[in-house]
Amino acid sequence: MKQWSRIIPFKSQNSRMETWIYDDSDIKKRYEVDVTLGKPIDITALKLNELENFHAQVVATRDSRTNLFQSVNMREVTLCPICQRKTDKNIPPIFEVYTAHYVQCPSCLHCYVATVPSDESLHRFYASNKEYQKIYTDKRTADIRVQQVALPKAEWAIHQYYKLYGKKPHSVLDVGAGSGHFVQACRSLGLKADGVEISESGREFCKTYFGFELANCDFTREWQRFKDYDMVTFWAVIEHVSNPMAMLAAGSKIVFGKEGLVVADVPRWDSFSTAVQNQFSNSVIRHLDPLGHINCFTDSSLATAYVLNNLDIVSAWYFGMDAYELVTQLSHALPDGKIIETLKSSIPAFQKSIDLAILSDEMVFAGKPSSL
Ligand SMILES: [Zn+2]
Repeated sequence: MKQWSRIIPFKSQNSRMETWIYDDSDIKKRYEVDVTLGKPIDITALKLNELENFHAQVVATRDSRTNLFQSVNMREVTLCPICQRKTDKNIPPIFEVYTAHYVQCPSCLHCYVATVPSDESLHRFYASNKEYQKIYTDKRTADIRVQQVALPKAEWAIHQYYKLYGKKPHSVLDVGAGSGHFVQACRSLGLKADGVEISESGREFCKTYFGFELANCDFTREWQRFKDYDMVTFWAVIEHVSNPMAMLAAGSKIVFGKEGLVVADVPRWDSFSTAVQNQFSNSVIRHLDPLGHINCFTDSSLATAYVLNNLDIVSAWYFGMDAYELVTQLSHALPDGKIIETLKSSIPAFQKSIDLAILSDEMVFAGKPSSL
């Protein structure tokens, strides 16, 4: 049993130190973690494409997922992808969406889809599906996405590195770089930065729009090509793959024994968005989309993944789109066209409260090699 607990101050503030304690009967560890809560963002400007087509996207997502999860090309996930505990079929699922079932590991508390499309089907989907990259390859929002999404992430990650080592990282490798927004943000801050991406449309967009190439390779097998980088980042990546531990392990090996940092951003189970989607499970297009997010992390499961990959957690950041999720689901359920217009200016204030209460649907951990 992996047991995590935390000591937090009563005072509500967006930046604070917490103590996290790990106990699995063999190992006991204690981490002083620098925690950031919230991230300002103009979400409606960013999600232009999604808002314009929300109803159509619900239908397309529901149909494609329902078809895929009823197909013959499926694989049972027999072990927890994080701690390898056997999946217990007697424990009922915690969420059903489009005929897919999320289960929760009783040991590390990781949430995962119990029966998933085969690795070949998943690889084919991400390598060729332009629809999936559409919101990231929308030229109208590319600059806003660099400024409002990628740049704050780059600044946060660099700041965590700076606090640890008293200098900026020399180089950054972004794994699952999408259309290159984060790499571009790091470059604009003067760092050497590169990315790995298997999606052809993502790589093409990056080359055309930002003017540089992303590497196309299997990072878990070819990580040695990148062993000179001192910061490795995974933004919204490891929840998509059947073996998230292999991704983190490769990142950990790159920074082993040097002043390095591994940063991973994932969807978070214990969030307000999860509660909203529990009530509107027939119109899910993000967060608990069982094709995109075959893994959904808890603080416990991501922290366990870091410990098991010899990474000491130094920082955590919580933020999300929970308020946006509520407003869009209400707008879909009550389509009078006024809900988004009426409520959109309130979304940032709602989200701020949600983040301060740590009910955010996204989290980022940063960890340094425990060998240091
Ligand atoms: Zn587990």
